[in-house]
Amino acid sequence: MTDASTNVPPLTPVLTDNWDADRSWSLESYAGRGGYEALDVAFAMAPGEVIDLVKDAGLRGRGGAGFPTGMKWGFIPQDPDALGGDRPKYLVVNADESEPGTCKDVPLMMASPHTLVEGVILAAYAIRAHHAFIYVRGEVLHVVRRLQHAVTEAYLAGHLGADIHGSGYDLELVVHAGAGAYICGEETALLDSLEGRRGQPRLRPPFPAVAGLYASPTVINNVESIASVPAIVRNGSEWFGSLGTEKSKGFVIYSLSGHVRNPGQYEAPLGITLRELIELAGGVREGHRLKFWTPGGSSTPLLTAEHLDVPLDYESVGAAGSMLGTRALQIFDETVSVVRCVLRWTEFYQHESCGKCTPCREGTWWLVQTLTRIDEGRGEEGDVEKLLDLCDNILGRSFCALGDGATSPITSAIAYFREEFEAGMHTPSRELFPPAASTAY
Ligand code: NAD
Ligand code: SF4
Repeated sequence: MTDASTNVPPLTPVLTDNWDADRSWSLESYAGRGGYEALDVAFAMAPGEVIDLVKDAGLRGRGGAGFPTGMKWGFIPQDPDALGGDRPKYLVVNADESEPGTCKDVPLMMASPHTLVEGVILAAYAIRAHHAFIYVRGEVLHVVRRLQHAVTEAYLAGHLGADIHGSGYDLELVVHAGAGAYICGEETALLDSLEGRRGQPRLRPPFPAVAGLYASPTVINNVESIASVPAIVRNGSEWFGSLGTEKSKGFVIYSLSGHVRNPGQYEAPLGITLRELIELAGGVREGHRLKFWTPGGSSTPLLTAEHLDVPLDYESVGAAGSMLGTRALQIFDETVSVVRCVLRWTEFYQHESCGKCTPCREGTWWLVQTLTRIDEGRGEEGDVEKLLDLCDNILGRSFCALGDGATSPITSAIAYFREEFEAGMHTPSRELFPPAASTAY
């Protein structure tokens, strides 16, 4: 897979293939590139065979957790006599992309909304659902409008509604805009919000596959996971499995931001390294060097320059002490204060904490107070230990992953850059790292 002239693996545009096309978001453009042809391939198969195809491909959830998609679909009871088998089944697309640094689903939905709509039809058919929802983050009104337009086009063309393509299969698809709360990206809070309640996480189990929307069996998948399905149906599981690594198969969209020359979305196989991606992105800005980075948004432990050659797959990043998460690669060079950076993320988690459980609601508040002191050079003796103790009392004791995620950047930053936190006992980080240096290009 390596381009011999540059030593950099080539990009593998599948999801991003049509992004540069004229009016790429229109049905005309999508259909001209074979769009919606996968439906007839799938309708010639039994729903269970489509599930098996996705299982064989090895597609894993692209929302962050990497849970096997086909296995998740397989949890939906298909036998009417099985527990929950007589209830309606629902497909919900989690389009509430909000993890700091993550910017893959929004551009995908803007550039190619029909890829997602086609994926929804295939996934809903596979689990025998007749109602599907795309829950979109409320702030991105332009995406909501684009999706609604695509859904209308798909209905008018007979790709949605009754008897799709003469197959006898019916599907209604609703685009629903959230109201701008990060916690509604947590799948059970999303369901509460979709049902019209205040979005707060539910206790799991039961998982949504057993009792989800309106207490019925529900599959919730990320946008990129669902958008990957049409290509798998068209090209087969072997083709998909030939990309990526043995356990982390296929292609993904990496979002590169921060101190690289050409930030943006880069689609490449799982297992590429950050060194290779940075090369594709034109390198770290001139005259500077990488200091730290996030592999999957701010909820994943930081990594440093020593991890540049870690393959970006679920297993390798885990072995390096972090998580692949959403592949939001935020790049920071040596001009950035890690203390101030972590403080900004923690303020975000404090603001977005839904307040349901004490460790996260109170703990994120204490974290912000302590980090602010250190950032301003007013740190007190024992503050670094206090931060670690607070994190220890949040991690594993919170009701959902938001609380756990809030601790990751702090504990990892202290592990790699403890001296910067200790310097906060006497020197403000803005003196050690003048803000102008990190923003000047
Ligand atoms: P999780 O590992 O608990 O669950 C992953 C998925 O698998 C869920 O859909 C869950 O219902 C299903 N699942 C797990 N075990 C199951 C079982 N035994 N039976 C049936 N279904 C089961 O992860 P999570 O808490 O849903 O998500 C955490 C991830 O979200 C993090 O990795 C983080 O990177 C990511 N995240 C993403 C964003 C974003 O904007 N995309 C924002 C915040 C967090
Ligand atoms: Fe709410 Fe935070 Fe508790 Fe999750 S961890 S339920 S966001 S308070």
